[in-house]
Amino acid sequence: MSEWRNQQAQIPASSGDDELRMIPRWSMILAVLLFIGAQYIFHGVMPHHHHELLPLRLMMGYAWGALFASYALLVGYVSCDVRRRGMSAGLWILACVLLPGGIGAVIYFMLRQPILQHCPNCSTQMSASYHFCAQCQFQVSPVCSVCHHGVKITDVYCTQCGHDLAKDGAPARLRAYSD
Ligand SMILES: [Zn+2]
Ligand SMILES: [Zn+2]
Repeated sequence: MSEWRNQQAQIPASSGDDELRMIPRWSMILAVLLFIGAQYIFHGVMPHHHHELLPLRLMMGYAWGALFASYALLVGYVSCDVRRRGMSAGLWILACVLLPGGIGAVIYFMLRQPILQHCPNCSTQMSASYHFCAQCQFQVSPVCSVCHHGVKITDVYCTQCGHDLAKDGAPARLRAYSD
């Protein structure tokens, strides 16, 4: 536990903007096309027998268009999101498309794995739940040196074993947060 690396590196944090950027362009275009397509089917293809029901027709076209469009955005998001979590892309896209009423997507959001990140020191892919890199022992989050449970950077004693965390000698890049 003594060979701490001193590199200053940043672990990318996920913000709302990044989440929006996870929706690929093809799914945005598909969403627009599906919305326009739904308007076309409701106003162009379906027979106009009841002109008095135009508001209803407008509402139905809008509702179905919005539904198909959000489906396209959802599948686009999932197709990008699976990759940064190391999950099977084909399987989950298929589940989202085939299971009715968005059930596939609900299951996906319940079961998805944490985002994979890269070790700031050696770039090995690592799970967000790791405290140390498996390849180079670079510490990415604070842990108790006795029981190795995760601790908060502001904790004075370990919540699991009561160890005095001040005795641990935090690695340089983590000490920067506590000072
Ligand atoms: Zn590493
Ligand atoms: Zn402990």
